[in-house]
Amino acid sequence: MIFDNHNRPITYLRLAVTDRCNLRCFYCMPEEGIKYLPKNQLLTYEEMERLVRVLARLGVSKIRITGGEPFVRNGLIDFLWRLKATEGVEELHITTNGVLTEPLVPELVRMGIGSVNLSIDTLDRERFRQITRRDELPAVLGTLDALLANDIPVKLNAVVMEGKNSEDLPLLAELTRAHPVEVRFIEEMPFNGEGSHYPVLNWTHRRILQELQLLYPGLKRQTDSPFSTAATYRIPGYRGTIGIIAAFTRTFCGTCNRIRLTAQGTLKTCLYDNGVLDVRALLRSGATDAELTAAFLKAFGHRPKNGFEAEHERGPVTESMSTIGG
Ligand code: SAM
Ligand code: SF4
Repeated sequence: MIFDNHNRPITYLRLAVTDRCNLRCFYCMPEEGIKYLPKNQLLTYEEMERLVRVLARLGVSKIRITGGEPFVRNGLIDFLWRLKATEGVEELHITTNGVLTEPLVPELVRMGIGSVNLSIDTLDRERFRQITRRDELPAVLGTLDALLANDIPVKLNAVVMEGKNSEDLPLLAELTRAHPVEVRFIEEMPFNGEGSHYPVLNWTHRRILQELQLLYPGLKRQTDSPFSTAATYRIPGYRGTIGIIAAFTRTFCGTCNRIRLTAQGTLKTCLYDNGVLDVRALLRSGATDAELTAAFLKAFGHRPKNGFEAEHERGPVTESMSTIGG
């Protein structure tokens, strides 16, 4: 296992397989004028497979596929099967908006997907349309039903936003009554692709917790899994759990075991950095596995201590989360 310069193990890769998406969530992408990467600037599946092999040899054992929306890229299912068979890859997970996912759920079961994170900010069709700028809630709910029916572990991601979906907090929390899901309330981050436009953070992790405690005075803190970004709670008697993710306040950097590869093949060793290594250029210049390994190790040896340090080094973030994958 490889440890970074702050003695944190690097075991988890978040791999963005595309920057394209079939929704336009306002906190992630502008409504119009998005410049998608030309195809030849995306990593190919073969390139991604090779990088996963190299990273798995360094001790990365958990992979999360993300994007953009992973299921808009052709050939994803075959790629997932190949990743699943890669030596050293112990866990394969996926984050999806669920619009195209329902018919693929049986295949995900067959390949033994570890879990699916489904993004769903609201259970109200009109609010969903306003947030995502598309009328796709029924398809997303179909995916949720299929995941639950097939016993795939599910986490539901909801970014909490003043005037957009804060009234959904209790409705989403109530999903944990009957279902063994983890509903995760996430602080909004500034990765909206609108330049350096930082939203006012009305819903901090503290306020989310206070609201939940008001609604559920018996709310019980749970033991978080190691390296978790979420502080986990349970409403007594409920089957599922509730996670609160301080994504903007960044309280969890001290145990961060994550690295990211963007769709264009840039390595990020912190969500808030500006990309620390052009892996695509290295690959396409004919680097050997040993050279790739050396470049990764060098980057892991220079990780910022936390997201604030990373952001300070680069200046305000400007990019869309769809290029990073969350
Ligand atoms: N399209 C897929 C989806 O929506 O699940 C995967 C990619 S999406 C970028 C991954 C996660 O990032 C989603 O759960 C989304 O809600 C979250 N996200 C995107 N922009 C965000 C922002 N500005 N602040 C907080 N979370 C954000
Ligand atoms: Fe698409 Fe996911 Fe971004 Fe929404 S959060 S626009 S679904 S990539």
